[in-house]
Amino acid sequence: DRLSNKIAAGEVVERPASVVKELVENAIDAGSTVIEVEVEEAGLGKIRILDNGDGISEEDVLMAFQRHATSKIKNDDDLFRIRTLGFRGEALPSIASVSHFEMKTSTGDVGSRVVFEGGVLQVHEAAAARKGTDIIVTDLFFNTPARLKYLKTVHTELGNITDIMNRLALSHPEISFRLIHNDRKLLHTTGNGDVRQVLAAIYGVNIVKKMVPISATSLDYQVKGWIALPEITRASRNYISTMINGRFIKNYPLVKAVQEGYHTLLPIGRYPIVLLSVEMDPILVDVNVHPSKMEVRLSKEQELNQLVTDAIKKVFKSQEL
Ligand code: ADP
Ligand code: MG
Repeated sequence: DRLSNKIAAGEVVERPASVVKELVENAIDAGSTVIEVEVEEAGLGKIRILDNGDGISEEDVLMAFQRHATSKIKNDDDLFRIRTLGFRGEALPSIASVSHFEMKTSTGDVGSRVVFEGGVLQVHEAAAARKGTDIIVTDLFFNTPARLKYLKTVHTELGNITDIMNRLALSHPEISFRLIHNDRKLLHTTGNGDVRQVLAAIYGVNIVKKMVPISATSLDYQVKGWIALPEITRASRNYISTMINGRFIKNYPLVKAVQEGYHTLLPIGRYPIVLLSVEMDPILVDVNVHPSKMEVRLSKEQELNQLVTDAIKKVFKSQEL
């Protein structure tokens, strides 16, 4: 119902960047090859997400706004073998409950257009649309004034959006992403599949030239990535990006394992630029820890952290030779 959607929204949609994250993840899950995100006033004016994915069929479109309606999980077992980014079926109803929400979607056949206002359906009609989904969110948090008040400056909120988009682009080099803010292009990746192309779009070609590959394998884990030489440092940990099975995650022990690999090579207070991608059997990782799906629990954490630290140490050893 409307109240529980609004409560869930408090956890799923903390800020404009969470809206961007959830909607872009949906676009990725739908098999899109081009995803365009247009924001105004750091998302408080407008957030538009345009994709060329599978779309939602006419008969399923209203169901997608039912809480816990997900097309991605069919049974309990699937919950422990999650491969899609979404699985909780909370994003659409949550976002629609705290905004003015308009969606046009089509599977290539007859399309539909729905409009929600604070979770209340206003329009549901057939509409001509090309295959894919086009969502426009305006008046975000209009009916949750406390949430609105708690948001930071446009600068900070836009930083969060950029951050999320960068991470999503890094985890999907095969998808072309575009982020536009107030008509200014902030990110554009080609979708050619080469993660270095994405790194260049984010950090610049000169940084990418100073990045070297990481690669290591253990019984349970496969670690891959790119790491900047220790001469290039940043003042924040934010440049250490970690993903597990294609999903960006926050995991402090893993970030610490990365830093540990640098050992004494980094000055105090300086951090590396790293992209670390871990593949493992989904059974070993629990992503159903928090509604944002950014936190994970790992079954064999120690083994992974050691593997990462050793892999990075090895990189710098071979650099010295
Ligand atoms: P979840 O992603 O956890 O399944 P959501 O509330 O984010 O839940 O979305 C509900 C459902 O709506 C999804 O399972 C999917 O079937 C459909 N959906 C949402 N966004 C898109 C999209 N951009 N393209 C195609 N289908 C979508
Ligand atoms: Mg989703």
